[in-house]
Amino acid sequence: MRICVLVKQVPATDKVKIDESTGTMIRTEMEAELNPLDMYAVEEAIRVKERLGGKARVTAISMGPLMAIDAIRDAISMGCDDGYLLSDKLLAGSDTWATSYALSKAIEYLGGFDLIFCGERATDGETGQVGPSVASWLGIIPLTYVSKIEEIGDGYIRVWRAVEGGYEVVETGLPVLLSVVKEINEPRLPNLAGKLKAKEAKIPILTAETLGLERRMIGLEGSPTRVVKIFYPKLSRNGRIMSGKNPQEAVDELIKFLAEKGII
Ligand SMILES: Cc1cc2nc3c(=O)[nH]c(=O)nc-3n(C[C@H](O)[C@H](O)[C@H](O)COP(=O)(O)OP(=O)(O)OC[C@H]3O[C@@H](n4cnc5c(N)ncnc54)[C@H](O)[C@@H]3O)c2cc1C
Repeated sequence: MRICVLVKQVPATDKVKIDESTGTMIRTEMEAELNPLDMYAVEEAIRVKERLGGKARVTAISMGPLMAIDAIRDAISMGCDDGYLLSDKLLAGSDTWATSYALSKAIEYLGGFDLIFCGERATDGETGQVGPSVASWLGIIPLTYVSKIEEIGDGYIRVWRAVEGGYEVVETGLPVLLSVVKEINEPRLPNLAGKLKAKEAKIPILTAETLGLERRMIGLEGSPTRVVKIFYPKLSRNGRIMSGKNPQEAVDELIKFLAEKGII
């Protein structure tokens, strides 16, 4: 079975720098880490391989600047077999539409996968759009909010999806894309052997040219969404503490205040 995990490198701190002229994130000047929610996707992919007695190969794929190679190394140190980085200046400024297009082309270029894992959302962009969009470009079924893989058989999978108020059990044929929630597992810590393997791993770089990406579909040009303005919201609430000498006085003061405002 061929399995891949989409992993994104995200800022490790909240000191994110923004290019005010383009409204985009300056990714080359920040401390970065593997998107914490992608660790659950990596863990589940490895568990599926273990469940199949090792008869699977798990490939980590990321799109980002060259430093995103570290996110792939992190995935390999946890147990992925290999990894590819999709990196090209032409991809800079890609929104979720262009990102998912490029990732889907990388998946096709690598020959396709039976299972494609991704995180629920990236902790920086937080749209949760990339996984389902990749599935859409590939014309395969997206299974979102997966909290448990109940069974994987010959060409089919049965999973639990966390939905409002309960779980939905879905069975479908392969290939599928699964975005997983935290509940699915407890990600393992890399061991020494994994760290050494990751350090020595050769991670090929895929460019727009290698993948034959259409220029009008990638980067700022290929991104139909625009960040018009980025700002921190201002808190405009004026708090007032009803203290009083004792709880009864505080309640009386609150009732008086609400009556004056015409709320009660
Ligand atoms: C309007 C808009 C404009 C943007 N413009 C820019 C821009 O100009 N420059 C810029 O750098 N960013 C830009 N971004 C952010 C960029 O689109 C996102 O970083 C990227 O598309 C991923 O979206 P996300 O962070 O919401 O990921 P989500 O959709 O929340 O991620 C879900 C999952 O998809 C997978 N995934 C997501 N991104 C990647 C990736 N790159 N590689 C591998 N797997 C991945 C991961 O498994 C992740 O857990 C923009 C976003 C928006 C909404």
